[in-house]
Amino acid sequence: MRLVRFLAGDRVRYGVLEGDTVRELLRPYFENVVPMRSEHRLADVRLLAPARPSKMLCIGLNYRDHAREMQKPLPDEPVLFLKPATALAGPGEPIVCPKAAGRVDYEAELAVVIRRRCRSVAPEDADRAILGYACFNDVTARDLQAKDGQWTRAKGFDTFGVLGPWIETAPGDPNRLAVACRLNGAVKQRSSTDQLVFNCQYLVSWASRIMTLEAGDVIATGTPAGVGPMKPGDAVEVEVEGIGVLASPVAAEPERGAKPRAIL
Ligand code: MG
Repeated sequence: MRLVRFLAGDRVRYGVLEGDTVRELLRPYFENVVPMRSEHRLADVRLLAPARPSKMLCIGLNYRDHAREMQKPLPDEPVLFLKPATALAGPGEPIVCPKAAGRVDYEAELAVVIRRRCRSVAPEDADRAILGYACFNDVTARDLQAKDGQWTRAKGFDTFGVLGPWIETAPGDPNRLAVACRLNGAVKQRSSTDQLVFNCQYLVSWASRIMTLEAGDVIATGTPAGVGPMKPGDAVEVEVEGIGVLASPVAAEPERGAKPRAIL
């Protein structure tokens, strides 16, 4: 099932995507999925990020091939960092390259979306805490990441957490999905979640022993080898097998600096 958040008229709504038809839901899908009669054509709505996470938990160095590429040893525990809720961007929304950032990289990732508030979830119960899976682009200001020594600024700019285009509740085995990134149509990253050092269920369990996870929170599971820079005017796509394609244009920060934006 493909779960979508969308804008129709000026109202944010939740729905289920069936082919080119969005069937609207009575309430957000985190508790249960109750379809209404009203339907929309996909072409008539604007898809939004399929959740409004209170936080985005991101895992670094979680692919064997990426750790080799970065010449880093495999971690013995997940490497965790957070993106603020304000970093969220939806499908088709421009990724804004800040003037001060220097090099800005794509990172194609599989994201886990949490179904309900939970804490200290056992690994064998993790699937029940998961609503589904989405594509994620963990946009990173690579120069600042090296300069700062920690990652809050490099990973935390507005639009640096791209989520979508929907939540797929049954993509197949989440730990065996092909993950790819294309920049202007050229394949830059191609791997599989079978390269994950710590798999999806382990990460949900492990993270939930650190902090309470809320409905809609996202765990981005890390990126494979092949990361590289983007520039304004580029088009970047993250594709995860069994889910779909998350496409974003890349834009420059306006001359007078980015304005506060409404996050829908
Ligand atoms: Mg990453």
